[in-house]
Amino acid sequence: MTDFIDLNGAEQSFGDSDAQREVRANDRQYVFHSWSAQNKIDPLPIAKGEGARFWDYDGNEFLDFSSQLVNLNLGHQHPGLVRAIQEQAGRLATIQPSIANDVRGELAKRIVEHSFDGARSVFFTNGGAEANEYAVRMARHHTGRQKVLARYRSYHGSTATAITATGDPRRWANGVLDAGVVHFFGPYPYRSEFFSESPEQETERALAHLEHTIQLEGPDTIAAIILETVTGTNGVLVPTPGYLAGVRALCDRYGIVMIADEVMVGFGRTGEWFAYQGFDVQPDLVTFAKGVNSGYVPLGGVVISEAIHNTFGDRAFPGGLTYSGHPLACAAGVATFDIFEEEGILERVRDLGSRVIAPRLAELAAKHPSVGEFRGLGLFWAMDLVLDRETREPLVPYNAAGEAAAPMNAVVAACKAGGLFPFVHFNRLQIAPPLVIGEDELVRGLDIIDAALDVADGYT
Ligand code: PLP
Repeated sequence: MTDFIDLNGAEQSFGDSDAQREVRANDRQYVFHSWSAQNKIDPLPIAKGEGARFWDYDGNEFLDFSSQLVNLNLGHQHPGLVRAIQEQAGRLATIQPSIANDVRGELAKRIVEHSFDGARSVFFTNGGAEANEYAVRMARHHTGRQKVLARYRSYHGSTATAITATGDPRRWANGVLDAGVVHFFGPYPYRSEFFSESPEQETERALAHLEHTIQLEGPDTIAAIILETVTGTNGVLVPTPGYLAGVRALCDRYGIVMIADEVMVGFGRTGEWFAYQGFDVQPDLVTFAKGVNSGYVPLGGVVISEAIHNTFGDRAFPGGLTYSGHPLACAAGVATFDIFEEEGILERVRDLGSRVIAPRLAELAAKHPSVGEFRGLGLFWAMDLVLDRETREPLVPYNAAGEAAAPMNAVVAACKAGGLFPFVHFNRLQIAPPLVIGEDELVRGLDIIDAALDVADGYT
């Protein structure tokens, strides 16, 4: 079964204006889309956005509950971000990476200052997959070992090592592009591989499984363990109590580099600068992208510990990128730090998550038999939709041909008909709005989801 078809492209009605028609026609004729069978998709044409809303060319409004691909943390057209990019473009639009530049240095400094104890420097990339690619490469040079342990139910990007490390079906058709990757299971109490009866037992068993994996693979061959702090597209899996600290302890015991993939959850999504800060753990390398500047200009990177930085003190790091630390992207990154502080973004995320979303999802779960479980934190939540609460069988996302199937399709269509652009993956309806969303908008979006769940209930 495939697990990557973009349900957001499914069953939608388009307006009729010439502008809307022309945008669609050019897109269908000339644009080759990610993760898609090119003849089977029909993307929504979007003309403009503001905050948590965007509009098609006919003026139809959508509330963005996906932050695009969970990158638009400060919303569409934030004036502070737009201004920073415009000012930088007027002064110095680009400069190569071996030249020193004010915004690049300033952004690296702010990231290091907001990162883990012992963070030393930042290597900038163009996005998240590249960040993971480089983090693994650094760990391999640092340890002199080759293997990388990664979890099932994870996404790390679509370049060679990143897609091989990915633990979901997006990897399957790509084969093994990095022979050093080995997968293991992480905690997932709702669908436990360890038959645990409590989150604490899940932690204990998941850590025992990881340690056995390390021992059977050979501790001296393992360079790194890479994991999403809070798993994103695979279902907003929040780590069980003590799990991340346990992974850290195993890394220390066996001399393994701990890489936290914070591409989706870094920069405020969970109510912390970086999600690991909510779990009292210090990684050795942290990868980020998306929220660092809300994706206004592509940017990602790796935050590097003192020890790993020093590996490349006298010996050259064998890698680099023409656009590493692009000034337009970095200017937007510096502005992101200013805006977070001026607008109290982290406090808002924690407040809206605990005061508005959590109680409302509890209410929806009580009301709708299709909600098997809901979970999350900050402005990052998922509802695991089921056909049957007893068996926990997922609400059917695909038919036998691997195409988006009726039940989840109908949920997506109901959201869109209500004016909400949802974030749907497999059988999960995920909630990840821009962190600047108004409380009234958030409540309205949850009302639309309430109505869409009536449709899901029809299949239970
Ligand atoms: N890592 C995680 C956790 C992600 O969610 C993503 C993208 O969704 C990536 C890595 C890849 O980032 P990019 O698409 O910028 O390469």
